[in-house]
Amino acid sequence: MNNMNKFIECPNCKCQYAIQEIYHPDYLLGRPNNIIRNEDGQVELFQGTEQDLVEEYTCDKCNTTFRVKADIKFETEILSTKSYEDTYVSKIYKDRINLVEN
Ligand SMILES: [Zn+2]
Repeated sequence: MNNMNKFIECPNCKCQYAIQEIYHPDYLLGRPNNIIRNEDGQVELFQGTEQDLVEEYTCDKCNTTFRVKADIKFETEILSTKSYEDTYVSKIYKDRINLVEN
C-alpha cells in the first residue's frame, strides 16, 4: 500500500489525514439490515444504508474545505473449495488457538 492509498491529502496544503479521520466506517461501507438472495446466490433485495463514498472535510491546518471521494475495489480469489459431499466438521470452540507441540 503506498501513501496515496494510506492517507488522504488536503488538495490545498497537502496536509495528510488518516482515512479514519475523515470517514466513519459505518457510513463509508453502509450497514445492511436485511439481505435476501435467490437460489443462485444473487442478491434480490438489499435493505439498509447504502455506501456513502463522498465526504467533505475542513482541513485543520489551512481551513480549506474539500471533498473526498473514495474509490473502493473488491477483488476475490479462491483459497479453497469445500465439496458438500465431504463430511462437515463443526468447530465448537472457535476462540481456541491451536498450539504446536515440539
Ligand atoms: Zn489544508
